[in-house]
Amino acid sequence: MAKKNTAHILVIEDEAKLAQFIELELKYEGYQVSVASDGLAGLTAARESEPNLIVLDWMLPGISGLELCRRLRTTGNMVPVILLTAKDDVKSRVAGLDAGADDYVVKPFSVEELLARVRAHLRRTQEEDPELLQFGDLSLNRSTREIFRGDRAIELTAKEFDLLEYLLSHPRQVLTRDQILENVWGYDFMGDSNIIEVYVRYLRLKLEANQEKRLIQTVRGVGYVLRD
Ligand code: CA
Repeated sequence: MAKKNTAHILVIEDEAKLAQFIELELKYEGYQVSVASDGLAGLTAARESEPNLIVLDWMLPGISGLELCRRLRTTGNMVPVILLTAKDDVKSRVAGLDAGADDYVVKPFSVEELLARVRAHLRRTQEEDPELLQFGDLSLNRSTREIFRGDRAIELTAKEFDLLEYLLSHPRQVLTRDQILENVWGYDFMGDSNIIEVYVRYLRLKLEANQEKRLIQTVRGVGYVLRD
């Protein structure tokens, strides 16, 4: 099931009243919402909390919305961004799109318009590529079998790929060793069940080769979970 209404939306807006208004409207629609009130806090939140969509004010203290968007894109973060701005001219629109924003809403806007765009962009990203599995800066393409950690391509063996694909298909779910064995190695696997530990170790070495954050966590006595 598509979890449209549990999508996490990050609102980066320095006008407290407007931020609160947007937050309440989005929450009323069932979204999970977090708010940042300046550019730097927004950029940090965008990187750390992995929102499904960002509503981003252009004029922010510190880093501008435009610069924030540009920085996200240069690090490969493709989260949908809806830019809020009072600047309604062609040059500004072009600048916004050039910086990597997906959409553009001019203040003052009707909340219905904003909500419609939020829905449209969430739908687009959910339907965009069923072959692409993503978690944080990790992505796996089922059809091309390419794996990336940020910009870094990662080579995996066939079994490592299967294991990672299984974990990425169940983000934040604790998977028991039995589940992993059955789904990755098959019911008829007769070998040593330490095989999972061995392959998790291989995967971690490859996924963390540049000191990246650990994503495959051990749940002692149970199994593994893909989690920050
Ligand atoms: Ca502002």
